[in-house]
Amino acid sequence: MPATHHLLLCPSSAPIPLSLLGLEMSAAVGSFTALVPQPATRRRVAWATRCSVAGSVAAASPILKNLHLKCATPLPVLRHIADAMAADMRAGLAADGASDLKMILSYVDSLPTGNEKGLFYALDLGGTNFRVLRVQLGGKDNRVVDTEFEQVSIPQELMHGSTEELFDFIASGLARFVAKEGEKFRLPQGRKREIGFTFSFPVKQTSIDSGILIKWTKGFAVSGTAGKDVVACLNEALKRQGMDMRVSALVNDAVGTLAGARYWDDDVMVAVILGTGTNACYIEHMDAIPKLQDLTTGSGKTIINTEWGAFSTGLPLTEFDKDMDKESINPGEQIFEKTISGMYLGEIVRRVLLKMAEVSALFGDYVPDKLSVPFVLRTPDLCAMHQDDSEDLEAVDLILNDTVGVTRSSPDARKIVAEVCDTIVKRGGRLAGAGIVGILQKMEQDSKGLIFGKRTVVAMDGGLYEHYPQYRKYLKESVTELLGSEASKNVIIEHTKDGSGIGAALLAAINSKYSTEV
Ligand code: ADP
Ligand code: MG
Repeated sequence: MPATHHLLLCPSSAPIPLSLLGLEMSAAVGSFTALVPQPATRRRVAWATRCSVAGSVAAASPILKNLHLKCATPLPVLRHIADAMAADMRAGLAADGASDLKMILSYVDSLPTGNEKGLFYALDLGGTNFRVLRVQLGGKDNRVVDTEFEQVSIPQELMHGSTEELFDFIASGLARFVAKEGEKFRLPQGRKREIGFTFSFPVKQTSIDSGILIKWTKGFAVSGTAGKDVVACLNEALKRQGMDMRVSALVNDAVGTLAGARYWDDDVMVAVILGTGTNACYIEHMDAIPKLQDLTTGSGKTIINTEWGAFSTGLPLTEFDKDMDKESINPGEQIFEKTISGMYLGEIVRRVLLKMAEVSALFGDYVPDKLSVPFVLRTPDLCAMHQDDSEDLEAVDLILNDTVGVTRSSPDARKIVAEVCDTIVKRGGRLAGAGIVGILQKMEQDSKGLIFGKRTVVAMDGGLYEHYPQYRKYLKESVTELLGSEASKNVIIEHTKDGSGIGAALLAAINSKYSTEV
């Protein structure tokens, strides 16, 4: 087993947001200030709809029934989604702009072999977190000799600030991490430290080490980055920090995960991210990409980044999804992402509960003010409520109290809340599963026997997949329903912990400007 040293303060890949600890980080001075707790305030439900607590639960049930109906994903719906995903992938490969799916060329056409050697860094900008990692690669026999990483949550204000502020924050985090490099890590003399930069937003890749941001997603609205080369932005910030490092590979998180998982297992063909946002990539034959007329690679294969978060065909959507989309900073975009990924599941549930509180007095005579605050209910809260198997759903009561200011909920109301969570999470997991089958179907249609009838691994990463057991279960059930129990035995859906970080470092090694023989 390789030695692993996590410098991380909290044990899981999902940090405890500072706001939950009652702390907020000020980007300018890097200090922490305590948030003053706000007194819980509530407003009265309109008198016409006011009713007793017992009656209110019955009144919420038509809303719940309708939600079940609208979110239902029976097999024919799943089939339709899987087929549409395959068709949209084909259209996106045929011509730019012909599909919701951009099917972006990753410029990764050699995958890790295990022979990679040396010290490499990875830097990962996701939606919630920013991670830095270093790894000492020891070649075929020694593999990962040592690795260390750190993780920082991205302060809210930087998500709406300037390009320079965001990249300076990243570069200074990296500089602090590099300063702590110990003797276990060895950089040969005369070499610069090389970085694999995982940037998990839609980028039009122009080479393995450059790419232009198409648009921000996942709630980011940083000014001045769209249309710019994100590697150039990072290099400028590194220069401002006085750091002499080289970005050798710019990779998407899904691409990094595929490369990282493939390092250990040759049967990995697809990688899927389910975290704040969602994306998927897979290994494609160059001759199956009509929009690339004359680009060839040695291996004849490349990784395609589908940017599947933008998929939208035939999704079972509700009024709550549509309203959330309308009020988002990117209306009409990233509809699949808004239906299945971690940033949005909690918010959809909040909207349903708000309607139930307002229209049918789910929580009695009052609607807590906090329930009207967008994104106040987060997916980890749903997850915690979903784990509650106590008879009276006491954890549900506690979380409702803490997060949305419901001071008293009846056991029946809590059951309804739990059902709402289950309905939204079930739809998300099942649709994600159908998307995966869509990709596998497309690969199998092009090369018979490539996927089915042999072992095929789908590498999974992201906080939602990692931490939400019910979501994982629904996803797997949907894949099994679609493929049938025999065929699905050969399709291994597997979590790759830290895959994208190590993957980016491996891709930096493969694309190093130096020989990796040290
Ligand atoms: P990113 O790389 O985009 O920052 P991560 O892969 O770290 O994202 O995943 C973070 C996301 O995972 C959070 O935004 C949240 O939606 C989801 N998540 C984290 N912890 C949990 C949990 N316990 N249960 C459910 N979802 C979680
Ligand atoms: Mg990520």
